[in-house]
Amino acid sequence: MQNNLIAGAWVEGSDSVDNINPSDLDDVIDSYARADAAQVNEAVAAAKAAFPAWSTGPIQARATMLAAVATEIMARKEELGELLSREEGKTRPEGIGEVMRAAQIFDFFAGEVVRQSGEKIASVRPGIDVDITREPLGVIGLITPWNFPIAIPAWKIAPALAFANCVVIKPAEIAPASAHALAGIIQRAGVPEGVFNLVMGKGSVVGEALVNHPDVAAISFTGSVETGKRIAANCAQRLAKVQLEMGGKNPLVVLDDADLGTAVDCALNGAFFSTGQRCTASSRLVVQKGIHNAFVDALVERMQALKVDNALTEGTQMGPVVDQSQLDQDLKYLDVGRDEGAKLAWGGERLNRATQGFYLQPALFTETDNAMRINREEIFGPIASVIAVDDYEQALEVANDTAFGLSSGICTGSLKHASHFKRHSQAGMVMVNLPTAGVDYHVPFGGRKGSSYGSREQGRYAAEFYTTVKTGYTLPV
Ligand code: NDP
Repeated sequence: MQNNLIAGAWVEGSDSVDNINPSDLDDVIDSYARADAAQVNEAVAAAKAAFPAWSTGPIQARATMLAAVATEIMARKEELGELLSREEGKTRPEGIGEVMRAAQIFDFFAGEVVRQSGEKIASVRPGIDVDITREPLGVIGLITPWNFPIAIPAWKIAPALAFANCVVIKPAEIAPASAHALAGIIQRAGVPEGVFNLVMGKGSVVGEALVNHPDVAAISFTGSVETGKRIAANCAQRLAKVQLEMGGKNPLVVLDDADLGTAVDCALNGAFFSTGQRCTASSRLVVQKGIHNAFVDALVERMQALKVDNALTEGTQMGPVVDQSQLDQDLKYLDVGRDEGAKLAWGGERLNRATQGFYLQPALFTETDNAMRINREEIFGPIASVIAVDDYEQALEVANDTAFGLSSGICTGSLKHASHFKRHSQAGMVMVNLPTAGVDYHVPFGGRKGSSYGSREQGRYAAEFYTTVKTGYTLPV
């Protein structure tokens, strides 16, 4: 049994839930405690009590602790990567890569602790100085999804602590192991009691209690649009700061002048790696008519060669879907696409492997238009569709015709079209001749429209959310 971390102690929950390996349903990783609302209150109270000392303590100690977290994560990347792949289903190399990213994020924010700066500007009133500084917010509630079970907790926890806030985190119930392991590492790094708390369990219980707690100054959330909107509404009621990272329906435009190999690589990676379970996945492939047939043929050939198997099996390129409900959602959208008149060019079959798991062939729809539900709603699985367009102008229009705006991409040899697309794509992140997924750990992450709400995550931009600005005046007398 793995417990919650509250006020520096590992405590049992009101009950517990098994964490099951989606590659092998007979493999129970462990049983994880489920907190109740009373335990959320205890965690918030502990964080509130720890805040005065933590937020005024020596910055070198904070930087050293975050660096120690990075060091331990990196030293254990193989073991933690395997744990991650076991609970989430992404391949072992993807799991190890995600763990390394978590370490790099802690390393980056260890540096940010001592790189914090302010501004000193002249007042329009002679003889008066104005300084602008950043201060922590207090207790921050973090709510994270299952698809990046260590990287997303890391990119919220590291800046929250770096900027001297205290944290209560609730990871997704179906993949708590990586966040739990991270909590152990943070505790071992010497973070004082109450500064960092982990409460596992259901969103409807633990998440709700955290969002509605009057002593939680801010909530950072990643997950679905529906839950995000609900959280934003609840935070607005009590004027708490909120940051939401939600879904995507990311377009990858392929123009006639694209390098075919590059375009196919981008589509294969963007649409199907990590089983398509990335908010930055390329789910709409917007392809110009001159290259359309060659692109579809080459992509299908690559999809057929993709090895779908147990996440931990050597050579696996795509692991299983995360759980039964996500698999049901994927299968539902395969039916929706067929019913809407899209042609299933290839894939979408359930697969049996040596171990019982949620295996699904990657699927590609062709002959689709942008009004179809499969092109408007986030599927969050290994399913992509091709939308044929006449020219660049139509491609841009289709790419932007979506309720989302997280990332977008274009494959082209034309500097003119690449530059125009970067400027006019209504997305937070734009890629040229690169997959729509895959953003460095030190640059801003986030989108527009229905994809994001509030300020950006990661890199130096994280300070916008995790601090509040103070304007100070001095009259030297
Ligand atoms: P959710 O938005 O429901 O879950 C995200 C997190 O929010 C989880 O920790 C969840 O807890 C928690 N949560 C759920 N309800 C509440 C609530 N009322 N108050 C506070 N917290 C809550 O997404 P799902 O995991 O259910 O996935 C559903 C769909 O969301 C996917 O199919 C996909 O389309 C999208 N999604 C997008 C992600 C992204 O990166 N943008 C990531 C994951 C999902 P718990 O699940 O433990 O109950």
